[in-house]
Amino acid sequence: IPSRISKVTNHISNSLAHADISSVLHPYTDARAHERQGPVVIDHGKGIYVYDDKGNEYIEGLAGLWSVAIGFNEPRLVKTAAEQMAKLPYYHTFSHKSHEPSIRLAEKLVEMTPPSLNHVFFTSSGSEANDTMVKMVWYMNNALGRPNKKKFLARNKAYHGITVASGSLTGLPNNHRDFDLPAIPVRHLTCPHFYRFAEEGETEVEFAARLVAEAEAAILEEGPETIAAFIGEPLMAAGGVMAPPEGYWQGIEALCRKYDILLVADEVICGFGRLGTTFGCEYFGFTPDIMITSKQLTSSYMPLAAIVFSDDVYNAIADNTAKIGTFGHGFTASGHPVATAVGLENLKIIEERELVANAAKVGRFFQARLRELADHPLVGEVRGIGLIAAVEMVADKQTKRPFAQPGKIGATAFSATQEHGLIVRAIGDSIALCPPLIIDEVQVDELVNRLKKALDDVAEWRSSENFN
Ligand code: PMP
Repeated sequence: IPSRISKVTNHISNSLAHADISSVLHPYTDARAHERQGPVVIDHGKGIYVYDDKGNEYIEGLAGLWSVAIGFNEPRLVKTAAEQMAKLPYYHTFSHKSHEPSIRLAEKLVEMTPPSLNHVFFTSSGSEANDTMVKMVWYMNNALGRPNKKKFLARNKAYHGITVASGSLTGLPNNHRDFDLPAIPVRHLTCPHFYRFAEEGETEVEFAARLVAEAEAAILEEGPETIAAFIGEPLMAAGGVMAPPEGYWQGIEALCRKYDILLVADEVICGFGRLGTTFGCEYFGFTPDIMITSKQLTSSYMPLAAIVFSDDVYNAIADNTAKIGTFGHGFTASGHPVATAVGLENLKIIEERELVANAAKVGRFFQARLRELADHPLVGEVRGIGLIAAVEMVADKQTKRPFAQPGKIGATAFSATQEHGLIVRAIGDSIALCPPLIIDEVQVDELVNRLKKALDDVAEWRSSENFN
C-alpha cells in the first residue's frame, strides 16, 4: 500500500494505540500487521458519521458491521437502556422466569415476521443464534424419531457466523482453514452469484434452475431422510453482497417442501429494512420455517439476536421438553432485559421514521449512483439492492478476469476510501457498502463522491505499479 494512501492507518502515536497493540487480539485482523500499523481508534459517532481520536470524520459506509440502522447517536436508545438498567439491569429467562422487555420484544417479532412464525428464542449474537438453530433442528428431529435427519445444506461464500456449528455453515475458506471446520455435517452448494458462477450464455433463469437442480441432486445423493435443513441469507452479504438469480428462492422453497426439509432464512443482515422490505424473504417472496435475526434488531447498540420459528418446530421441541422435564439449552444473557428493551425501542424508531421505506427510496438512488461507477476502468460489476451494494474490481472488464493476487487491490481500496473519509469493507477485490438506513440522498452523493476519488487513486496506483 503506497504511503500516500496509508497515512490514516499510521496511528501508533499515543499510549492508547500502544496499549491496544500490546493487549488486544483483533477479530478479522492480521495480528503482525496490526503490531506495525496500529489501530484506528474510533471515538464517537453522529448520524451516519464516526470520528477517530485524531478528529478525522468518516462516513460509516458499512453501518459498523452492517448493523447500525438508526445512526450512531440516538438518544432514545440511550434513555431506554439507562431506564432499564436502573429498574432491572439483569434477569434471566431460565426455569419459568421472565421479564417485560423480552416478552414485549418477542411479541413484536412475532407480529412483524410472516404469520407462520410464532415463537422466539433469544441469544446475544448471530453466531449463537445459528448454533442454537442447529441444536433446535437436531433436537426436533430426534424428538420426531428421525435421528438420521441431521445434515445441513448451505452455500459457498455464505456467512452464518464463526462458532463451531455456525462457522461450519459459513462457506468461506478463512473461517474454516486451521480451525478444523466444518465440524457438523454440512454440504455447501454453488454460490448463486450470476456474474461469477453463471456459465457462458446462461440466462438468470437458467442459472437459477441449474442451481436448484444441483440442490436436488445433492438431496437425492445424500438421501432426503438425512437432510434436516437448508440455510441461506436471502441476499448473501458478508461473502460479497450477492443477490440470487430470479426464481432461485422459489425453486429452493419448493424443494424444501417436497423433501420435508426446514428452510432457514438467515436475516441477520437483510432483516429490518436493508433491502427496502422489512425482511429479505419478503423481497424474494419465500417463507422460511425459521428466521435468524440480529444486528439491526438493536442497531447493535446492545448485543442481541432472535430466532423466530414455526408452530411445527415449537411443538416438536415442546413435546420433548415435557418428556425430559427441561429444554437443556440457554444462555445467561438469553433475552437480556437491557438488550431486549433497546431492541423494542429501536424497532419502534425504525417504524416511526419509516426507515424501511427510506431504504427502498434512497436505496434506488444509491444503486443508480453506484452504477455510474460501472464505467470506471477498475470496475467489473456494481451490484446490490436497497441500501446494500458491492463494487467488484477486476483486472480485465471484458473477460471479468480477477487480479492475479486476490485481495491486494481490495486492501488498497480499503485504505484509499478511509483516506477520503469513508469506511467500507473489502471482500477480496469487492468493496462492500451498507450505510445506516437513515442516510439521505445528499449523503449518498457524498459517499459516492468519496468512493469515486478513492477508486481514481487506486487506478493511478495500479498503473504506477503495473499491477494486473
Ligand atoms: N449471519 C449473518 C448473515 C451474518 O452476516 C452474521 C455476521 N456478519 C452472522 C450470522 C453472525 O453474527 P455475529 O457476528 O453476531 O455472531
